[in-house]
Amino acid sequence: MNKLNKRNFLKMTTMLGAGAGVTVPTIAAATGDAPTPATFPPLPDLLDANFASTSGRNFGSQVIHHGEQKGYQVTPISQDKAAPGYQRPGNLSNPTVAALLRKVMEMEGTEAAAGAPCGMSIISQTYMALLRQGDRVVAHQCNYDWVMTLFRDYLPSWGIEVEFVDMNDPENLAKSLRAKPAKIVHWEPYVNPTMEVLNTPALIRIAKQAGATVIVDNTWLTPYLLQPFRVDADLVIHSITKYMGGHGNAMGGVASGKKALADRIVKAQNWFGGLLRPMDAFLVTQGVKTLPLRMRQHSRSAQMVAEFLQSHPAVARVRYGGLPAWNQHAESGALKGFGGMLGIEWKKDAAHTNLGRHVKLIINQTSLGDPVTRIMARKEEPDRGIPARYTRVSIGLEEPEDLISDFKQAIEKCG
Ligand code: PLP
Repeated sequence: MNKLNKRNFLKMTTMLGAGAGVTVPTIAAATGDAPTPATFPPLPDLLDANFASTSGRNFGSQVIHHGEQKGYQVTPISQDKAAPGYQRPGNLSNPTVAALLRKVMEMEGTEAAAGAPCGMSIISQTYMALLRQGDRVVAHQCNYDWVMTLFRDYLPSWGIEVEFVDMNDPENLAKSLRAKPAKIVHWEPYVNPTMEVLNTPALIRIAKQAGATVIVDNTWLTPYLLQPFRVDADLVIHSITKYMGGHGNAMGGVASGKKALADRIVKAQNWFGGLLRPMDAFLVTQGVKTLPLRMRQHSRSAQMVAEFLQSHPAVARVRYGGLPAWNQHAESGALKGFGGMLGIEWKKDAAHTNLGRHVKLIINQTSLGDPVTRIMARKEEPDRGIPARYTRVSIGLEEPEDLISDFKQAIEKCG
């Protein structure tokens, strides 16, 4: 190793050593220099403790190896529409799509899965497949925007009743189900865009006791942080466009859960169409292999940025699951991490309105769950709990120090 490389190596190991962690050997012993101890702070393990692998291996190993086509570490992209079986019905007939669906089932502990071309398509297919005129759905008062449209406009127009309740207090769900039973109960454990942390195990218990089918949209936390099926949910939805793929280069949706339910969705795909395409499945399959690493980094960076923003005088409040001042639900202590999504309530309109014009590294754009940090100013919607002067942030995988300096300079410019 030449002098320049050696200096850079030592500098790197020292930088990584900030904080408590694992001691790593330096090259000093090999070169005869005085040893320079360096420590490597490990990213904490945030895996849902309910995980149980079918092979006995850990989550991180399993997600890399499980489900691939026999003889491959990287299942190839099989675009052939008819071999080995026509790509409809049931995506398991296509080896590329099957590799991904098997990984999702392994992570979530689910029995069967259906894939669709985006998150919204698997959600609408699920509801169209499982509901009939006269049925009733109870949902949290806030969900992803287009799910709100589906629930507010479309399901009622087909004769399906939807009631929105504030599930921050699980007793509200119990009350609603006591007043009138529901076929399906739906929520997002970490809510888009309000960042409410709902007590998913308690809500599942209440809904199941009342005889409802539980559908959880786990897009934001991913099965690394939360595995709702292992605590009795019936169906788990993912927009794999987001953290599961993790690189912002593919779209897709997966519903997995009880075999009887997933099979009904797969069957309904015969007439609804809308299948997960092999190219997208291939890209998401490569992305998902690094899910644990990415979720740990998203969680650490979001925590650092959230703590910085919380101390900034322009900010009224930061909403992040990892901030005790925001997430006061003791029950949600079962979650060890919250990923990359946070929200900022600003003191003044100027920051809310103008931040997007002044950020340099951060992108002012919709979407979330990939390496790029994005902000999105939201309009106030009191009925959904979206406050005034609110910005949703998706923390990516850039170095958190760079994100903090970009926020700092942009907030200053907003005046
Ligand atoms: N569910 C949640 C929680 C989301 O955040 C989104 C998109 O942001 C979706 C579903 C829809 O996913 P897609 O964009 O893949 O249709």
